[in-house]
Amino acid sequence: ATFGTLSDRLAETFKNLRTKGKLSASDVDGTVRDIRRALLEADVAFEVAKTFSTTVRERALGDEVNRALNPAQQVVQIVNEELVGILGGQQRRLEFAKNPPTVIMLAGLQGAGKTTLAGKLAKWLAKEGHTPLLVAADLQRPNAVTQLGVVAEQAGAAIFAPEPGNGVGDPVTVAKNSIKYARDKQYDTVIVDTAGRLGVDAEMMDQAARIRRAVDPDEVLFVIDAMTGQDAVATAKAFQDGVDFTGVVLSKLDGDARGGAALSVASMTGRPIIFASTGEGLDDFEPFHPDRMASRILDLGDILTLIEQAQSAFDEEEARKVAEKFATDTFTLDDFLTQMQQLRNMGSLKKMMGMLPGMGQMKQQLDGFDEREIVRTEAIIQSMTRAERVNPKLLNGSRRLRIARGSGMTVTDVNQLVARFEQAAKMMKTVAKGGVPQVPGMGPV
Ligand code: GDP
Repeated sequence: ATFGTLSDRLAETFKNLRTKGKLSASDVDGTVRDIRRALLEADVAFEVAKTFSTTVRERALGDEVNRALNPAQQVVQIVNEELVGILGGQQRRLEFAKNPPTVIMLAGLQGAGKTTLAGKLAKWLAKEGHTPLLVAADLQRPNAVTQLGVVAEQAGAAIFAPEPGNGVGDPVTVAKNSIKYARDKQYDTVIVDTAGRLGVDAEMMDQAARIRRAVDPDEVLFVIDAMTGQDAVATAKAFQDGVDFTGVVLSKLDGDARGGAALSVASMTGRPIIFASTGEGLDDFEPFHPDRMASRILDLGDILTLIEQAQSAFDEEEARKVAEKFATDTFTLDDFLTQMQQLRNMGSLKKMMGMLPGMGQMKQQLDGFDEREIVRTEAIIQSMTRAERVNPKLLNGSRRLRIARGSGMTVTDVNQLVARFEQAAKMMKTVAKGGVPQVPGMGPV
């Protein structure tokens, strides 16, 4: 599917990062180089790939990453944010005229998906409570009017076209008349389908520009086939110069395109992507969300939210409190248990991730945590008295035996737990004095 290779390449890049705690400048450089290569291979325009990787590099070397509890995740966050940025940032909705009808003009090369889009838009608008009128201003292609008639029927929308048998009408006149017709018949949106050519040509561009002047559209949507590859930017710029457009529609995102067009066009033209088309059916269409598309490219699903949850489970305030306890030797087995229980939250996170598609990479990093281990620890600590939990030195041989029996464990289990606790406390005391607190038993994720 679109972005498949790019997603895989980025996932691979991040997998390498995840095994690292602190990131060195050369880690960052290596990652950024991989990202840039992945983008170029996905047909992203050279300038876009370059700017993107430069920005990611600068940010990844900056303080936000250095100070992060988890630098690798922070880098993923940055890449995600920058992807959202080149995809246009905020979602941009279709603009409607204050005084109907709202006029939407479609432009793009032949085969880009304009006529199909006209039907999709009409159906979608009707569902939103609008009354769309489809206008056949593509009088170049012999079949265009018939094809628009078919999609109009499928969409349950009205169509405005030159009378058959009247010879070939003038598309500018047809477009102009359609607005008056819509006003008279109270259609509140007019979708003007225009002619395309297989390549950009002056005559077609001039006709589109004249239609534009005649109908004074609220939106001009430039439809681009996501499979276009490296030509996407040149085509988009030609249409921007020739007709100008207010928004972009990416079509055929369901195909095997490498995704470069999607990633280049918005940032190279400064025009937002408003819709995405994902199939031949009229329902294969949706408003475009830069953030969702970025998540899809990173194959993270809702993983960033999950990461945030994991991060907040170990939020800085909590970490500071724990560090304080270590530093002052007041960290108890109860605290240890609390920490372990937080790890268990990570465990359920792991399960949750297992259920989401494409989560393999993320799941792996949590595989180091054994949930049964936490359950055992819990059982042992809960069999201790309050005093023992605060001061494990009270745990003599016979108490350890009793605790082992009480929790269904062996004395060795109890001994190991106490030893681990003491070791962790000692280590953490050092760490706490030196600064960055870590959760015992939790390596860099
Ligand atoms: P136009 O020349 O710009 O009007 O393009 P059409 O609307 O006629 O579309 C050209 C071809 O692409 C048709 O066969 C459509 O069925 C197909 N098509 C349009 N949009 C999509 C899409 O999002 N996904 C896929 N797979 N095919 C599409």
